[in-house]
Amino acid sequence: MPDSHRYDSEFAFELRVCYWAERDWPPTGSLDDDTVVLVARQLGTKRRRWDTIVIETSREALAQRANFGTDRLDSDLLHVVRSAPDEWTYYRDALPDPGYPWRYVRETIHEADDRGILDVRKTGNRIEIRRRFHYPDWVDRIVAVENKPDLDASAARVLQPQIERDVALGLADEAWVATRPTDDSVSPALFEDLPVEAGVLEIDPAMLSASVAWHAQGLDPAAPGTRITDRGGSDSSFDHSAATFEYVSPERKADLRLAIAERAYERGWRSFVDVMRSDCRWFGAREQSGQLLPWCGSHCRTQTSSECSGSCPEFEPEPPAWRQRGWPIEGGPGKGITQLLAARRARTRSTKK
Ligand code: SF4
Repeated sequence: MPDSHRYDSEFAFELRVCYWAERDWPPTGSLDDDTVVLVARQLGTKRRRWDTIVIETSREALAQRANFGTDRLDSDLLHVVRSAPDEWTYYRDALPDPGYPWRYVRETIHEADDRGILDVRKTGNRIEIRRRFHYPDWVDRIVAVENKPDLDASAARVLQPQIERDVALGLADEAWVATRPTDDSVSPALFEDLPVEAGVLEIDPAMLSASVAWHAQGLDPAAPGTRITDRGGSDSSFDHSAATFEYVSPERKADLRLAIAERAYERGWRSFVDVMRSDCRWFGAREQSGQLLPWCGSHCRTQTSSECSGSCPEFEPEPPAWRQRGWPIEGGPGKGITQLLAARRARTRSTKK
């Protein structure tokens, strides 16, 4: 199969974009020696999910974050570990009023204790807590990338309102659209009606090379954002209803950014195997330019995660003998790639760029 066709699906293209970002971010210039990136995919808020997320952080902050383990910290855990005092203190004296019943805080304290990220002791009937590790301010920048390998006019029409919302809310520091390069001297993406704040990145998935067709303008996560709840009649000459908005405070945006970063830390972008049928006899992995991609022996290509699901008509369970023989690496084709990807994910968390 020619290289250019290996990444025809949006899913395969997206995995290449993630891999490129992990190796070569940023698109122009270079990071300083202390800055490293963490890449994740398919994350965002309840209302908006980004294809690829790049988080810029520092080695030292990432090492401090690693003290809290690989699982994400939800808002309740963050509330406790970030406010925990240096000396043993009754938990109600130490923590700010959570705004919800204290019994839930006690549950969170016990969870933090079980995870080994908070010192907890009982003195009489009183639960006392003490900080175990400093929770760092580890998220320097968040960059959102939307992947559209074939950015034609109809794809741009779908993308435009999403990017407009991203720009108005300003949750990320930058927004980009990644697309495949064409033979045209000017990227066709530039003729589409995308917000000027969004950058356009042309990524060749086979060569893993990128060029900037349009530079992204920085957004302002520290300023209040605007959530467009209804775009009104802007799409139709018959509908002249007004757009509606709501404001999002900088504090709320900071909480959302941290929640996204925590999930990115936990999942990375190699977690796609968790939702695929790695127990299928056709499931395998192919190494391409140093990257492990899932491979379907039945389709003879990289399958998408939605194809590779319980409803796939080609699914065949792996023979039990494969597991018993520990083939190819301790039990069936799915186990091999799962372990390899988990190892790479772990290595990237303690990233050495
Ligand atoms: S046959 Fe279907 S379930 Fe099996 S690996 Fe291929 S896409 Fe996945």
